[in-house]
Amino acid sequence: MNVCDSGMLGSTLSTYGASQVNSLSDADVVILNTCSVREQAEQKAFSYLGRVEEFKQQNPFIKIVVIGCMAERLGQKIKKRFNNIDLIIGAREIDNAALKIINLCSMSDVSKKDQPDIKSEIIRYVSIMRGCDNYCSYCVVPFVRGREKSLDYKTILNECSLMVKNGAKEIMLLGQNVNSYQYENMNFASLIKKVAAIENLERIRFMTNHPKDLNDDLINIMATNPKVCSHIHLPMQSASDKILKAMNRKYTYERYLGLINKLRITIPDVSITTDIIVGFPYETEKDFEDTLNAVKSIRFGGLYVFRYSPRPNTRAADMIDNVPLEEKKRRHAIILEESNKISIEIVSKMVGSTQQVLIEKIENDVIEARTRSGRKVFVECGKEYELGKQINVNIKEAKINLLFGGII
Ligand code: SAH
Ligand code: SF4
Repeated sequence: MNVCDSGMLGSTLSTYGASQVNSLSDADVVILNTCSVREQAEQKAFSYLGRVEEFKQQNPFIKIVVIGCMAERLGQKIKKRFNNIDLIIGAREIDNAALKIINLCSMSDVSKKDQPDIKSEIIRYVSIMRGCDNYCSYCVVPFVRGREKSLDYKTILNECSLMVKNGAKEIMLLGQNVNSYQYENMNFASLIKKVAAIENLERIRFMTNHPKDLNDDLINIMATNPKVCSHIHLPMQSASDKILKAMNRKYTYERYLGLINKLRITIPDVSITTDIIVGFPYETEKDFEDTLNAVKSIRFGGLYVFRYSPRPNTRAADMIDNVPLEEKKRRHAIILEESNKISIEIVSKMVGSTQQVLIEKIENDVIEARTRSGRKVFVECGKEYELGKQINVNIKEAKINLLFGGII
């Protein structure tokens, strides 16, 4: 979502003559888009700010802007630690960020162009909603991004059409809980149908899904519409009903498993990925083992595992963070090891199969592409191939997060 927000901001600023550079020494303004989901993300942003401030001491002309969730959460308090910051713009004000930056940098609209420099990227992200209303007890998102709001489908469809006109072949629709998208009488499944009807668009992906809201309409569209990729990110968080309840996730493990079965029966080639939190308050060894066993039996196509960290204002922050850090690290490592083992087994089975891939990049006669399930494939090619084309490849070799194939 932050990549998407940064991209939108970048393209608005480009209409005022700004362009993106790759090093601090070439920049007039540094815009740091921040995340508050885990404490570690905030620590990373702080340490980066420290480096930029040092740079500013030698180069006082440079402007520093902090945007996003950390800016929303801490506001002017960030200035207490870093007093050289020029502007702080919270996540809820992201739509006005461009104007504020333009004023700060005295960019004039003399050089204003009507159309932003939309890079002809093959894959584009589109936000379809803002905020979140779910209040999972560990999560800071509702406090920093505000209440859930679905964006007007007419604007979304225009944005998607424009991107496709500019060369996009794959669009990823984004929201904290895309399954609860609702604008007038348009729900998420009907929105996907409309996006899929855009001519010359090859693929649609979306994230993130909430198990409590995933419905049959969406599963059926994934099964029947060839443009909708057969990948779904369905965060499980835990397989212990006690922990799921304390997390306020509003589903049981049995219900989650029911969805997995339905997805696998309806979409035979589906790849299901997930998020897991270890070390939530009062997670016992037994709770953890339930989660580990679920990972072993479900066999996710991939997963992200996080060590729980208390976030300010959340309900879980009032609970005692009673799983010691060393224990969180141990549980984290065990899940990761298991998941890596399963991933290797899954990709090894793909060797010898034919996969439809979309070409994302070509460099030195090597195609970089992705399968419908979202796995990266490198393919050696002798002749010219077109970016954004879908081709069939034969998988010859597999590594944990990488496949190697030959053109059929
Ligand atoms: N809206 C998305 C996820 C947003 S945050 C969803 O519900 O799936 C991405 C992931 O970060 C979450 O799925 C969760 O696994 C993790 N996460 C969120 N808050 C956390 C915290 N306080 N500590 C550790 N992990 C956390
Ligand atoms: Fe956070 Fe839960 Fe909302 Fe996801 S659904 S953003 S985890 S509150």
